[in-house]
Amino acid sequence: MSIDTTPLSSTPRTSLRRHRERGMSDREALYEVLDAGLVCHLGVVADGMPVVLPTAYGRDGDTLYLHGSSANGAFGAAAGQQVCVTVTHMDGIVAARSVFSHSMNYRSAVVFGTATLVRDEDERWQALRLITDHLIPGRWAAARQPTKKEMAATSVLSVPLTEASVKIRTGMPADEPEDYDLDVWAGVLPMSLTWGQPEADPLLRAEIPVPAHIRDRASG
Ligand SMILES: Cc1cc2nc3c(=O)[nH]c(=O)nc-3n(C[C@H](O)[C@H](O)[C@H](O)COP(=O)(O)OP(=O)(O)OC[C@H]3O[C@@H](n4cnc5c(N)ncnc54)[C@H](O)[C@@H]3O)c2cc1C
Repeated sequence: MSIDTTPLSSTPRTSLRRHRERGMSDREALYEVLDAGLVCHLGVVADGMPVVLPTAYGRDGDTLYLHGSSANGAFGAAAGQQVCVTVTHMDGIVAARSVFSHSMNYRSAVVFGTATLVRDEDERWQALRLITDHLIPGRWAAARQPTKKEMAATSVLSVPLTEASVKIRTGMPADEPEDYDLDVWAGVLPMSLTWGQPEADPLLRAEIPVPAHIRDRASG
């Protein structure tokens, strides 16, 4: 596992210009945003057209791994190219006194880098394990492992976390001073991701109980 010590927002394209006070310079903040997320958005120019695709991901130190079908056109286009990957958490809607000042509370990360198509079989295996366990810790070991055919049908991309930014908004609305006397409710409507109760596949054999790793995930 490689660890990068470069501070965040240290390159021209990752330096926040608007609301700089919301930017984080600590790499731990990047890891926290990535590790708390489940879905990233991969932005790539494919055949001259920008395309943004949601995908699962996993992190190993300062490397982000994404996977997809070998037939995935955007993945093919991304290999060896500059990409942008984002992860976003919405923490609340900020209802201001004026429409203009409405906002959101959030934590988000933007990563720029050259995507590499991972060819080494051990690294591909490890990346798929990371992605699976990122969704449900312990799932890789509990489920059937991929066959050679399934591995061949799967592409793995790696993206370095060297060039990245994190932006976080918290707190109440920032209304214009004259608007604080208005008869308009203002505040934050918090929101968070919660898990439901596990729902067994109707085709599951009745004697198979909900395993601990699923119960652990469901309990947050
Ligand atoms: C859930 C959510 C909803 C949002 N809604 C809106 C909206 O409706 N309208 C709006 O204008 N903005 C919105 N934003 C903020 C938006 O993401 C940008 O930060 C903002 O628009 C400034 O854009 P810019 O190009 O001027 O940023 P700049 O500050 O010029 O961007 C320069 C660099 O800063 C970094 N950066 C910028 N924004 C982010 C970010 N959010 N997270 C991590 N790094 C970042 C990137 O590396 C970027 O290349 C929202 C953000 C989130 C997470």
